[in-house]
Order: sequence, then C-alpha cells, then structure tokens
Amino acid sequence: MCIEQHTSIMTTEIYLDGNATSAVLPAAIDAAIDTMGRRFGNPSSTHAAGLQAKALLDEARACAVGLLGVGDGRLMFNSGATEGIQTSVLSALVALRERQLKGEAIGDLLVYGATEHKAVPESLAHWNRLLGLNLTLQKLPVDGDGAHDLPMLRQLAVRAALVCTMAANNETGVITDLSAIETVLTETNSAAYWLVDCVQALGKLDLQLSSTRIDYAPFSGHKLYAPKGIGMLYVRAGAPFTPLIMGGGQEAGQRSGTENMAGIAALGVVLAALERRDTFRSHGELYSFRARLADSLRTALPGVVFNNPLDKSLPTTLNFSVPGLSSRELMDVFDAAQVRVSAGSACSSAKAAPSYVLDAMGLPLWRSAGAIRMSFGPLADEALISAACARIERCGAALRASCLIPSERTAVPHDGLLQLGVEGACSWMVLDAASRSCVVIDPLPEMTSRIESYVRCQNYQVLAIVSTLPNAGRTMLIDALGRHFDRHAEADEYGWPASARTLILENGAAAGAVRLGAQALASVACGTGDELRAYLLGSADDTRLPASAVRFAFSARPAQQALLAISAEQTLLCPTRDEQNQFCISMSPHLSATLAADMQLNSLALDAFLQAHPDAILIDVREPYEFAATITPGAAGRVAQSVPLNRLAEHASAWLRDKQSPLVFFCRSGNRSMKAAQCLRRLGHQQSYSLTGGLALAPLQLAA
Ligand code: PLP
Repeated sequence: MCIEQHTSIMTTEIYLDGNATSAVLPAAIDAAIDTMGRRFGNPSSTHAAGLQAKALLDEARACAVGLLGVGDGRLMFNSGATEGIQTSVLSALVALRERQLKGEAIGDLLVYGATEHKAVPESLAHWNRLLGLNLTLQKLPVDGDGAHDLPMLRQLAVRAALVCTMAANNETGVITDLSAIETVLTETNSAAYWLVDCVQALGKLDLQLSSTRIDYAPFSGHKLYAPKGIGMLYVRAGAPFTPLIMGGGQEAGQRSGTENMAGIAALGVVLAALERRDTFRSHGELYSFRARLADSLRTALPGVVFNNPLDKSLPTTLNFSVPGLSSRELMDVFDAAQVRVSAGSACSSAKAAPSYVLDAMGLPLWRSAGAIRMSFGPLADEALISAACARIERCGAALRASCLIPSERTAVPHDGLLQLGVEGACSWMVLDAASRSCVVIDPLPEMTSRIESYVRCQNYQVLAIVSTLPNAGRTMLIDALGRHFDRHAEADEYGWPASARTLILENGAAAGAVRLGAQALASVACGTGDELRAYLLGSADDTRLPASAVRFAFSARPAQQALLAISAEQTLLCPTRDEQNQFCISMSPHLSATLAADMQLNSLALDAFLQAHPDAILIDVREPYEFAATITPGAAGRVAQSVPLNRLAEHASAWLRDKQSPLVFFCRSGNRSMKAAQCLRRLGHQQSYSLTGGLALAPLQLAA
C-alpha cells in the first residue's frame, strides 16, 4: 500500500538521498495525525486521554526494545541522534571525571573513527572542554575501503577512555565490522566505554544490542520513514548515564520534556513494520536495485568510479566520482532531471570542498572533491529504480551533448563567445561554427582539459592562443590540443600569429587581425610601457575595423581607458579578471550599478508580469547540460532561451540593442539568475529581472 503511494510520488521527482532523510511512511503520517487530532493526550496525565497516550508510548517502546534486542538496557525517546550522541558523550565523560576525581586510571584518549559524522568529534571536544577533562581526541584511521585500522585500535585501546565508531557510514554506506572491534576491546582488556552511532543502520542491519558490549547507540527516526525530531537512545544495562535534559521527569527521568507523541507514534509504526518484515525490501532485492543503478551510471558516465566498496557497504548507498566532472556539475545535472542526490562533500558555488570521509580513505582529491552520493531507502521499488535508470541515462546524454564527457558523435558546434572562469580569473573562447575554428584568449592552466575536450569534441581548429600579458603560459594547452593547433606556426610573445592580416582601426592605427568567419579579432597594444595587450572583436570589412563595429574588447581593466578611442559605447569589455561575477562591463563611462529592489520576481508576480509583458524574454541561465536534462512537464508554457552565464557577454550585446523587451532570468535556485539580471542592469538594461528561488520554488512550464 505504502509502496504504491511512494511510486506515484516518484513519477516526477526521484528522491535518491535516503541517507540524508526520507519521506514519512504514509501509515506513519496517519498515526502522527491521529496523535495530534483524536489521541492528543499527554502520557503523563492520569485521565483516560493520558492513559491512551501512555499506552501508545509503551507500545512503541516495546517494539523498539524487541527489534533492537535492548534486553535489560535502557531505551529512551529523544529528538534524534545528535541529542543521543550528546547524552552518550556527557554520560561517559561525567562518569570518567568522577572516576578520575577518585584517583582511578581512566586512560587519556577519546578515540573516534576518522569517518564519524561530525556530531561525534564535535560533541567529544565540547564536553571534554566543558567538563575540564582535558583528554586527547584521537582519530582512528580507516583504510581505502573505509574499514577501521584494527591494529591501531589494538594499540590505542588500553589508553582509551571512550571509543566512538559508527555502524554504517552516512556518505559511503561502509559497514563497520563491530564484532571485530568488540574482539579488540575485549582482548586488550580495554576499560573504554563504547559508543556506536547506529543512525544509518536502522532497518538495514540486524542489531541485537544487549548481546554486544556496546554502551551507547543513538538513532534518528527521519533516516527511516519517520519524521524529523524523533530519535532513540539505547544505553546498556550498567553503563553510566547522566540526563542531558532535566525537568518533569519524563522517560523515567532520563529525558525530561513532554514527549513528542506525533513522532513517537510515527516511529512506532515504522518499527512495527520492521518487526513484521512485510513492508521493506529484502537485502537481496536492495542489492539488485543498487546493481542496476550502478550499471546505468557506468553506461551514462564513462569512467565513473565507485568510492565505496559495494560488497562492504549498505545495499542502499552508492558513492561515485566521474573524471573531469565536479560534484557541482553532477549535482546540477541530476537536479535538473529531478533526481535528488547529494554531493559527497560540502559544496560552495565556486569550488567543492573535499569530503573528509573520502580523504580519510586516502582517495585522490578529484574523487573526494567530486563525489556524489546516491542513496535510497528499503521502501524503494521496481518503478523507482527503472525511472532512476532512465533519468541517469538522460543526464549522461545531456553531459555528452555539452562536451563534458566524451562522446562518440561529434557535438553540434557552438558559435560565439564563451567565458571560462576559475577563482576570479577568466579565459575566453571566440568560436566560429561555420569554419569550425576558434581563438583562445588567456588560457588558464586549470581550464586546459575543459578547453581541450571542448575543442576535440566539436572538432575545432584553434587558430591562435593569445594572452593579454607577454609570456603567459600557453604550453600546457598547446601540448593538450595536439592536432587541433599548429604548434609550429610563428607567433610573438603574446601568442599572436605572425600570419595575421592588417586592419586599420578607428584612430588610423594598423593592427594585426585574425579572421573568424565574418568577424575579425584585432590585436592592440595598450597600457603603460605597452606591456598590456587588448583584443577587439567585431565585423570588419577587408581593410577597416571601425569603432561602431567593435562588439567586444578583451583586456585587463586598466587597459579600458586606452580602448575608448578605438571602440564604441556599446562595446562590451570582457575582462581578464572577474572576481565579482560581472561577466562583462560597459565601455560607456557613465553607466554604473543600478541594482533596483524591483529586480526580483517571485512565482506569483511572474505570472502577472508575463501577462502584462507579452514581449518579455524568458532566459534559462543554467548550464546547457541542465537545460538538456530538464524534465519539461508540458509544452504549454513559453519558450525559454538557454543562455548559460558563460555565454552571457555575447547575448548581452544583442539584448542591449533593444532595451524595451523585459528580460526574465531564471535558474535552479535564483543565484545565477540574480547575477545575470544584475549584469544586464549594470550594462543599462533596466528591464532585467530574476526569478526568486528559481525553478526549485517556481517550477515553470517550459516549452520544449
Ligand atoms: N550520525 C550519522 C551517521 C548521521 O548520518 C546523522 C545525520 O545525518 C547524524 C548522526 C545526526 O543525526 P540528526 O541530524 O538526525 O540528529
């Protein structure tokens, strides 16, 4: 029943981020609603309503006790694993301090696995400091498969006061060999307390807690179809315990505060389903689902590498990287295809931070910074997996068409201007599709492989690789380009080809020029001591490049002044540095930033706006692969133009010729569209707008 509902939701959005959180089981939602409506009593009340609530609470606890093999240990409900981890660490450290004050030897180390969730080391550091224990936090390394270094644990165990490991890792799904750890602790006669974070194990691994020496085991309901804000903590019989929250004495005085009955009722339903074994998929089925996803990834994303050992991980988790693709790019293309996955690492818009879990496993930086986690829950079904495989293939096709992954077929050639930026610096490419030729301006070393794959995939010939400063490094790109660039052609210290023809500029000066179809790229010296070069791009006749024909100038900003005499007001300056994400700036000195408050449109205002402005142009500034991967719900809407930010300069030049038609930019979350609208307003197009919150908040009806 619940599986069918799950599938119908998934026909549009495919949620593959189960290790982050899950939807709530429909029967659990019903139970939660019931506790808020019909059965809203407080379990501490002695009247019938209270007794009913108490019965529900007891039932849920009994279910958890049986399922987790709690034996005569404690099992308390709380707000989730972070609270459970605090309570465990506090309990252990308070006991250690008491023993220390009595003069007992307690060891000097707080040992934790190198791949633990941040909640563990952060709590250890916090309570160690607050309680003044001053023990040393000691990371326990893991090997390339994410398994703990047991010989090292053997050495540390005698000095350990507390050992913290996890049952299964949230990023990789790697399953810890808990019995091997227990053997080490026992064989070394370690007196350490043992905390095992069981968050990712619930419903996926069989846990019989009281038959182990585990002292503390925290859980979070929302990782397995219960709501957020409800969790459980197991404490072994005889293990020290100190409440984190004191008050009305609920949960037998172990965790005060009126119980979260909606959460407990919902979690109770999930636990009962686990006990009955009639709702969730078997391990065998989950393994076969994951194998199908992995096969689709191998087909769609050539060279994909899996960062988790599949035979030693939860059957519901994949963690992978793709050579040449950042986790940001992968996240964006999956999100566009409405497949929700997560970056294996913390991502900022500019650069992905590497994952500390994959770093600890010793993986190279490109894998740890480019990782994607794909995870699903044990409620997954055939329809979800088939749909996910189809979407993965769609993402692969979108990336191939954008030359981001190798393709057998040569991609449709691109025309125009492309900006390639890294941390504020910019490379530019001027592309002519008709002649399949291009020029690269200021090649950044970081962009070498991107430029090379772009050129190779579209089968361009690179006519020149030029720079705005003398002797800037070009050799890396020349080496990479192979037959796509004539490395023996004579060029000066800026890379400017000796074969360039001569054109006359507006001020009468002669300049060398390279022809790209109807356009000419002219080279001019400017700046103090003539050490700066600028390049002008425009439609030239056989002999002249008049100022009015110059559409773009490529140069460092200090050269801007020198270019005014040979370019026009509408010429756009494409700078060599762009820290502020301005993309291009106007040569016209009187234009300055006019960032009006009315620049943002929300989805409600958008409808009215589009009705009032039939001439408005809708512009999708996401990358072409996101545009290509987008699931379009229907063809009833307007046609949106695809203009990624790195092609904004070229299109801005055209839009500025008609400043009356409003420009409405949109993207995934509203960030990139905001930058585009700001850029156009700065250039003097006052009718530029950004869709607040992007497609995530206002799914547009895009016309195919
Ligand atoms: N431990 C692990 C392994 C987790 O995956 C998480 C959540 O991502 C936590 C602890 C913290 O859980 P919560 O945020 O629900 O308190």
